Amino acid sequence: MQSTPQCRSTRSEIRVSFEDAVLNGLAPDGGLYVPDAVASDVYRADHRTLSDAATHWLSPWLKPESNDFFHQLYPFDAPLVALRGGHYDGIHVLELFHGPTLSFKDFGARFLGAALNRALDRQNRTAIVLVATSGDTGSAVADALSSLDRVRVVLLYPHGMVSPVQERQLTATRPGVQTLAVDGSFDDCQRLVKQAFARDKVGDLTSANSINIARLIPQQIYYAWAACQLGSESFDVVVPSGNLGNLSAGYLARCSGVPIHHFVAAHNKNNWFVDYLAGKERPFADTHVTLSNAMDVGAPSNAERLRYWASQSELAADISGMSVSDERTVETIKTVRSETDYLADPHTAVGLAAAQEHRRASDGDRPIVVLSTAHPAKFPETMKSATGEDVEAPRRLVATAAGASNRTLIPPTIDAVETVLSKQRSLFG
Ligand SMILES: *Cc1c(COP(=O)(O)O)cnc(C)c1O
Repeated sequence: MQSTPQCRSTRSEIRVSFEDAVLNGLAPDGGLYVPDAVASDVYRADHRTLSDAATHWLSPWLKPESNDFFHQLYPFDAPLVALRGGHYDGIHVLELFHGPTLSFKDFGARFLGAALNRALDRQNRTAIVLVATSGDTGSAVADALSSLDRVRVVLLYPHGMVSPVQERQLTATRPGVQTLAVDGSFDDCQRLVKQAFARDKVGDLTSANSINIARLIPQQIYYAWAACQLGSESFDVVVPSGNLGNLSAGYLARCSGVPIHHFVAAHNKNNWFVDYLAGKERPFADTHVTLSNAMDVGAPSNAERLRYWASQSELAADISGMSVSDERTVETIKTVRSETDYLADPHTAVGLAAAQEHRRASDGDRPIVVLSTAHPAKFPETMKSATGEDVEAPRRLVATAAGASNRTLIPPTIDAVETVLSKQRSLFG
């Protein structure tokens, strides 16, 4: 029987099973886990659906319990759409927002949920996943981890500090999920999570951290699926980036044979990685607030993985970095809408602006694929001010808005959080 691949740390020779890497998140030496060995020939050009690609890429990591296991995990598509007209003619958009919470975070969160539940099952344990959130991660994790028998989720968000759409997504009633609206800031939420971990006597707290290896591995499948849809020519891919998880997954996919010629890392004003690629390495910076807020990251943690795999000069040869301002983002939403009829959310618009620049700067005959990381209906205010139109919300977002909402308002104190945690523990049956 083929055994599950192992993981190793970026900082030392520590090697652990995938299961332990999922349960622990970070390596004991403070490093991030990466696959111990990367096969160069995983890619196949003949998948007929995204979930077929998922089955092929993910079965070695998580033995499916049934033939349709990965079809149930990913019952949605990631279609490749070719733009027509004007300056964007011929650019392809890979839509990664057809999952339940309308961002690409669903891909990582759903696999993490399945892997976590399996690992807990094998060790006959239960866990409480504690997450402080201000955006897409919280709703993707809550959705993916709800109804798992060995997991309960406690989400903390700053009351009154997230957008109305985000708040509806975070507070939708989900089995096994308790949402806490904290009377404080995002920093208060993060502090409370840290305190809860420091005081955890039961030892069952887990984070669904963005650096967990189980979030990275499944993000390879849509790079492979894009290649299948293109007909396996080599292509350039533009990745709207913040914490560099998506780009790291693409880099891994290329090592495993996906025919990606060149990457463009499209950042907003938070451009640490753009400077790094240009040979101007500087300390991590404070975060700037922008319209593409899921990419507002001053200290991208996945840079550690990229630097483990390749040197600065190798990365600079394979990846172009671009920084796009808020003005340019709004301008791009407007122009793309009027020239091609396509509605791109602010994160995708950062990617499209970078794609146009990249096409001008390169030889121009290779296909360009821009990853579309979120649905425009998640950002109705920005879309309205850029285009003057209201975005039509997809049915699953409307259903979320119409459904029951469930949240508990708490003061920003550790006692309030611990009361909730003991209540949740008592609910495991
Ligand atoms: C998280 C996120 C990003 C950034 O992805 P990274 O993997 O952190 O680089 C981009 N767009 C959206 C909509 C996101 O939610």
